[in-house]
Amino acid sequence: MQFENTLSYAQKLDAEDSLAKFRDQFHLLKNDEKHIVYLCGNSLGLQPKNVKAAIEQELNDWATLGVEGHFHGKNPWMYYHKLLNEKAAKVVGANPSEVVVMNNLTANLHLMMVSFYRPTKTRYKIIMEASAFPSDQYAMETQARFHGLNPDDAIIELKPRDGEFILRTEDIISTINKHKNELAIVMMGGVNYYTGQAFDMNAITKAAHDVGAIAGFDLAHAAGNLHLHLHDWDVDFAVWCSYKYLNSGPGGTSGVFVHERHGNNPELVRFAGWWGHDENERFKMKKGFVPMNGAAGWQLSNAQVIPMAIHKASLEIFDEAGIENLRKKSEKLTAYLEFILSDFKDNLTIITPQNKNDRGCQLSIIVKKDGKKLFDFLQANNILPDWREPNVIRMSPVPLYNSFEDIFRIGEVMNKYFN
Ligand SMILES: *Cc1c(COP(=O)(O)O)cnc(C)c1O
Repeated sequence: MQFENTLSYAQKLDAEDSLAKFRDQFHLLKNDEKHIVYLCGNSLGLQPKNVKAAIEQELNDWATLGVEGHFHGKNPWMYYHKLLNEKAAKVVGANPSEVVVMNNLTANLHLMMVSFYRPTKTRYKIIMEASAFPSDQYAMETQARFHGLNPDDAIIELKPRDGEFILRTEDIISTINKHKNELAIVMMGGVNYYTGQAFDMNAITKAAHDVGAIAGFDLAHAAGNLHLHLHDWDVDFAVWCSYKYLNSGPGGTSGVFVHERHGNNPELVRFAGWWGHDENERFKMKKGFVPMNGAAGWQLSNAQVIPMAIHKASLEIFDEAGIENLRKKSEKLTAYLEFILSDFKDNLTIITPQNKNDRGCQLSIIVKKDGKKLFDFLQANNILPDWREPNVIRMSPVPLYNSFEDIFRIGEVMNKYFN
């Protein structure tokens, strides 16, 4: 696509954009009435305006009904998790029964590892990305220790080749094949939080299955960003948070995917709680755990209604916009950002892959000199990306609330800085 670096061109793209209207459904940030270009949707998505009423609904039901809200509220709390399944499933490409919303991401990652990481004497290794998000590193390290293993032996880290920033799919697959007899599980991000690289989850899952291993993904940076097909890719399990691209508020609740071939296997070992127990028997308070079918069988506790009310409101927007439409706009928005940044090639290197299939919306930029100074300048000029030590600026234009004009503004401020 042939882009132009002019305000009128950016405004023309916005005028042609059928998703532009969704921007009004968010609280955009302002500094003294001046619009702030928000580029941190990969960290904490902006607040959808429909969230407040959604929370108030539950607060009112609580205030007027007390415990009866479980059955007689507008959205009976007793079944609250079911209100999210269908829309959450659409976002990740799953059947509704394969998805459940509960807890927080890292807790869910541990719950999934309990079920899917069942090391034996010979088959006990975990493949993950080197420099994965720290919480994932700590989770894998302590999972290995939990099974009496030495993490240095049990965990195989995938590193880019010397001088490269991103992992080649061929190298991921050859590592899987190299360890085919000792590999228990591949557990990777869907999109790497630092480089913005999107992994070929379909190919990785197939390679893992071909050697008899499990494939699980942390989709913190992929859910609401990529167009995912977890069911069709035959992924074993996945977890994600809802506060990044899914705009469901700080510390918001998390999603879990368990492929139905596992979800409907009551023999699969798990750490259980009463909310995962057969719902027809839940209140009989009997001994002996009988899991619900599907991902719901991993629930521990009764629904966290307030965070889930936020998530429900946010998912309604995704449902209306359609994840495949959002992804289409996102590809164009990020390509436009890449085009605008190409004016500053001498000062910046984009480490995120150029191929749109190998990235989501985020571009990670290494500033050759004084990166923090550029970051501070952007911020002082109402552009808000994020900064990752030692020298990366991440910019994540999201299709629900960022515009092409936003991207043009980034170039304008960069020009002021560099020229
Ligand atoms: C954001 C993020 C987390 C955060 O975990 P929480 O349990 O939600 O605090 C974990 N892993 C990855 C890959 C992330 O990007």
